[in-house]
Amino acid sequence: MTLLALGAPEITFLCLAAAGGVALLVISWARSSRRQQASEQLEGFKERVVAYSDAMDRLKERHKMLPFTDEDFTAPMVGETLAAYQEVERALNEHRDNWLKLMDIWERAQQQLEQKQAFEVQKLVANADVDSSTAQLNQQCQAELDRLDAVIDLATSKSCQVQALSRHFSDPEPTEPCGHCEHCMTGPIALEPMAEAEIDPPTWNRALQLQAEEPTLADPRVFARFLCGVRSPLLTRLKLTKHALFGCLDAVPFGQVMQRAAAI
Ligand SMILES: [Zn+2]
Repeated sequence: MTLLALGAPEITFLCLAAAGGVALLVISWARSSRRQQASEQLEGFKERVVAYSDAMDRLKERHKMLPFTDEDFTAPMVGETLAAYQEVERALNEHRDNWLKLMDIWERAQQQLEQKQAFEVQKLVANADVDSSTAQLNQQCQAELDRLDAVIDLATSKSCQVQALSRHFSDPEPTEPCGHCEHCMTGPIALEPMAEAEIDPPTWNRALQLQAEEPTLADPRVFARFLCGVRSPLLTRLKLTKHALFGCLDAVPFGQVMQRAAAI
């Protein structure tokens, strides 16, 4: 049968069928391109969440280590310094809750993508503002820890505080000690180490047992992070953050756990 032999209704039908086919192709192309777009957006979101979590881990460790960074740190923090230290801790906890919400979005978006709900994926990802969370984290925690570091450096300065302050602000340094700052009047300020905490022996033994089974934990730093509940992409990947012993020594200062781990 040639086209010439076809009547008008048949030709109309063929044209409609062809148009329908093209429309279907266009729809299916649009769908797959939208899925592709959604999948790329989700990947970008995941990268930003991992970077946020890494930044949080680094700050959490730095916060825990702060009282150990200087051997002269021998007085418990008081007043404004302590308040600032606790404020960083509060902010870090808040960011941890925020991160858990982001992980929830991650999981839901992944499920939606698998169910080919590209629009839902895009909506979920668009509503999660990871960038401003990261900016807030840096502002609330990193800047504050920098300030605390500087305060501790000054307080434990082995020289005249006026001279140390000038060095800190890159001002011309007075050649002679001032004679009236705390250091000049009473000598170096000695700060006490943070109180050591008890490490429960049965818990420690269970931790050693796990370490023997899990080669990744042979590294003292990784082991200490695991015991103190400091997350890292490595621990998350190995699902060790879900282990019952993860964070079992959360109440013990990181430096103490680190020392014990290094002595194994
Ligand atoms: Zn002085």
